[in-house]
Amino acid sequence: MTLAVALLLLIGQACNTKAEKQENVESDKYELNAIFPKGEKGSEEFFTGNAYAIRLVDADSIHTTLAGNVYFEPGARSNWHTHPSGQILIITDGVGYHKIEGQPMEVIKKGDVIKCPPNVRHWHGASPDVGLQQLYIIPNTEKGIVEWLEPVTDEQYTSNN
Ligand code: MN
Repeated sequence: MTLAVALLLLIGQACNTKAEKQENVESDKYELNAIFPKGEKGSEEFFTGNAYAIRLVDADSIHTTLAGNVYFEPGARSNWHTHPSGQILIITDGVGYHKIEGQPMEVIKKGDVIKCPPNVRHWHGASPDVGLQQLYIIPNTEKGIVEWLEPVTDEQYTSNN
């Protein structure tokens, strides 16, 4: 290999590396920070789109509280549901929606903390373009954890009220 060819190869590699880096930055624009493992894909019975859940705290006789993480890909959301003892959400990254039936849809984002009262029909999930990382806390699990209801339609998801 002549020096000239070696130099050309080196220049070519440098250019490729730069192009690849720019491509990665572009595709990583909305990549969310994951604190906890992604967990298992949520059942289509309870979720629309791709949602992943992992349990972080199991309830026991001393702490009757559940906690875990859910990652919603863009466009993914839970079905309508209720919690017999309410729920607290802590958003650790991304942008999403929290909708209590009869109330305006709430935009939720990294750093938000949301209390959902007991026994109200509601759903939560990602925004269409940006995913959502949420921690959930369910207190007083002796009263129950969740009652699953029907899916959120595309019309309900894209409507602002
Ligand atoms: Mn909920």
